[in-house]
Amino acid sequence: MGFLDGKKGLILGVANNKSIAWGVAEACHREGAELGFNYLGEQLERRVRPLAETLGASFVEPLDVADDASLDAFFERVARDFGKLDFLVHSIAYANKDTLKGAFHTTTREDFHLALDISAYSFIACAQRAAPLMNEGGAMVTMSYLGAVRAVPNYNVMGVAKAALEASVRYLAQDLGPSGIRVNAISAGPIRTLAASAVGDFRKLMEKSARGAMLKRNVTQEEVGNVAAFLVSDLASGVTGEVHYVDGGFHIGAGDPGVE
Ligand code: NAD
Repeated sequence: MGFLDGKKGLILGVANNKSIAWGVAEACHREGAELGFNYLGEQLERRVRPLAETLGASFVEPLDVADDASLDAFFERVARDFGKLDFLVHSIAYANKDTLKGAFHTTTREDFHLALDISAYSFIACAQRAAPLMNEGGAMVTMSYLGAVRAVPNYNVMGVAKAALEASVRYLAQDLGPSGIRVNAISAGPIRTLAASAVGDFRKLMEKSARGAMLKRNVTQEEVGNVAAFLVSDLASGVTGEVHYVDGGFHIGAGDPGVE
């Protein structure tokens, strides 16, 4: 018996088996959920489809969150082929790589729009299409990072996007709460993934995070996945509108004690 037995959920944002979304998928599958997936482009389909199949998932469809027509088509397929939803996990972000190193004040309007569109607005776009498909007791979770509330070197415009994402969680929780739908964010510590490799000096960031964490180590996809599975389950039925840190306690500390 798993605590997600009988639940159906969408996992958005698997690129490969290092993705945080994959850690979430494995945890939700272990707890008994039936899962559906998206992929961005044919190249990623070749990675995502075989992974999804290992969890017995047959719903694996294209979705580019930058495109309203793609969003509409994806959620129409969800309604038609996957059916009613109990939860949605949004684990998607993107920014121009050049913006993720060096100065923030040089950010262009175009780069600002791109980062905010894919990394923050896309959660609203998914939520508004998923909510009508949700059963009572539905839940949504998105992935944030400490750069939303602190100035983290190189994180730059992505920090601004995560601040917008965290605020969106609160407004979505306010809107959807009366329908019995809960909305939360996880603020994960740094984990080596495709997206993370775009952040300048990411290796240093990971070292600092491990030194400054109360647990004296970084967290894993599996640990984030377990918290996400809990948040979308009925065990978290009284929890909404919150940002939950899964960072080994880094954010409560005074920083990296080993820093020069
Ligand atoms: P990842 O590269 O594995 O996942 C990012 C996903 O975003 C990919 O699957 C990619 O296909 C998808 N994506 C990008 N643009 C898209 C678009 N237009 N349409 C649809 N999908 C699109 O990296 P990850 O680290 O697992 O990132 C997942 C989430 O976790 C992101 O929101 C990221 O900011 C967040 N996060 C990551 C870390 C970390 O250190 N890795 C820490 C905190 C939060």
